[in-house]
Amino acid sequence: MTGSTTETVTPSREADVVAQAPKQLFIDGQWVDARGSRTLDVVDPSTGEVLCAVADASVEDGWDALKAAERAQPDLAALPPRKRADILMRAFELMHERVDDLALLMTLEMGKPLAEAKGEVRYAAEFFRHFAEEATRIDGGYQTAPTGGSRFLVTRQPVGPSILITPWNFPLAMGARKIGPALAAGCTSVTKPAAQTPLSMLALGDILAEAGAPAGSVNILATSTSGKVMEPLIRSGIARKLSFTGSTEVGRRLLEQCAGKVLRTSMELGGNAAFVVFEDADLEKAVDGAMLAKMRNSGEACTAANRIFVHRSVIEEFGRRLAERMSEMTVGRGVDDGVKVGPLIDVNQRDKVAELVQDAISGGARVLTGGKVLDGGGFFYAPTVLADVPASARMRDEEIFGPVAPLTPFDTEEEAVAAVNATEYGLVNYVYTESLRRGLRVAEAVESGMVGLNQGVVSNPAAPFGGVKESGLGREGGPTGIDEFLETKLIGIAMD
Ligand code: NAP
Repeated sequence: MTGSTTETVTPSREADVVAQAPKQLFIDGQWVDARGSRTLDVVDPSTGEVLCAVADASVEDGWDALKAAERAQPDLAALPPRKRADILMRAFELMHERVDDLALLMTLEMGKPLAEAKGEVRYAAEFFRHFAEEATRIDGGYQTAPTGGSRFLVTRQPVGPSILITPWNFPLAMGARKIGPALAAGCTSVTKPAAQTPLSMLALGDILAEAGAPAGSVNILATSTSGKVMEPLIRSGIARKLSFTGSTEVGRRLLEQCAGKVLRTSMELGGNAAFVVFEDADLEKAVDGAMLAKMRNSGEACTAANRIFVHRSVIEEFGRRLAERMSEMTVGRGVDDGVKVGPLIDVNQRDKVAELVQDAISGGARVLTGGKVLDGGGFFYAPTVLADVPASARMRDEEIFGPVAPLTPFDTEEEAVAAVNATEYGLVNYVYTESLRRGLRVAEAVESGMVGLNQGVVSNPAAPFGGVKESGLGREGGPTGIDEFLETKLIGIAMD
């Protein structure tokens, strides 16, 4: 997600985009208020001020949404794949037509720079195009039994109504990555975006309705009481699938709730990515890659480089160049020209980053640049590079989720691989070396669902995204992404 901001955003344009954004619950094809007209506030993290209020779903509202999804399921499953594909393609086009408004809304509720928000809108739209193409290619099989006498007819059917829960850090893309394959496969859904960033997902509801999604096929609700609203829905067994993106801690709890009715699950959970720079790496490319892997989304990404291991012979030069690049980044409101780093999502996240940095410093880490909270109304933290971060530092185990790059030297390949794998997470790792043999050897040895070999971003709608170990279950995107929403059915046929 690159590009620079050229548009100058005035306060009245900000106000217009917020005023026009949908703020109710989207249930059964209708925009409705929450029971008791309850609302929750959405805050601009770059000012700390309330942007607007949106409908705050109660347990009863949640039931309305799930029942609507249940009612709509047979008709959506029966809709020809080409028609489901057409809906997704139309939504893809509408997102491109409205990229400026969607991006501004996202920047206002989440804080990321406008250029990155535009990148996310296009990335999210691409999931719709990708799954529109997949919708018409759902295959099956016909086979003679090895002993003869009967035939196997294998077909694929939608799993059924699905519950989709998404985080605040990619407010649009994480939802599109689930709604796209669900619709393509013929599954209705209830999506619950994060309470801090509901506006982008509600705007997507509007787009899907305009694109022709049948009433009840897509339902979207924000709530300030996620656990209370979602747990009975998950435990009911009416939904046959839960697809969750968020922290490992919450994912674990939701897996337990799914166990009762044996729901299918997809879990995209936390990460603790390592970024390894060998002595033969192209150092300039490695610095470029580290900037992307670390600073995309201001460091608030599950794929963010959280531990940077650099060969001892090049660490000083690498650290100097990285610190120089980080110190040149303009921090500010994501809507302002030239801003490269926005605020963190809230005061808790900013304080947690500050705490992790202090902990590393007290363990012996040196600050090459940054290392401080920045003044201003929002939740800003300076782009930071730390050298000599010890293995005992909390940030070696915990997701930093902020613009902090911790460097640690290594001497041998074995030592590097062991350090990379010394975590319960396994989402993505990055490896920089000019040796293909070493690159592939290390890529195979590290425990993660994805590896960036000489590249700092691996996410692509056409590629399988997901983790191993406590980073999750299943894969989103790619040729197999639709499988997460399909069941395989065998019809055995007697031939005698
Ligand atoms: P989170 O606290 O786990 O929340 C994620 C979502 O779950 C939010 O919508 C949240 O709603 C909801 N939720 C929380 N408790 C719940 C409960 N008891 N029942 C039902 N829903 C519940 O995570 P986050 O802080 O928003 O996001 C950051 C985390 O997401 C990081 O760990 C990051 O690594 C991970 N992530 C992973 C991927 C991936 O693809 N692997 C991608 C992006 C982010 P509320 O907003 O109401 O709390």
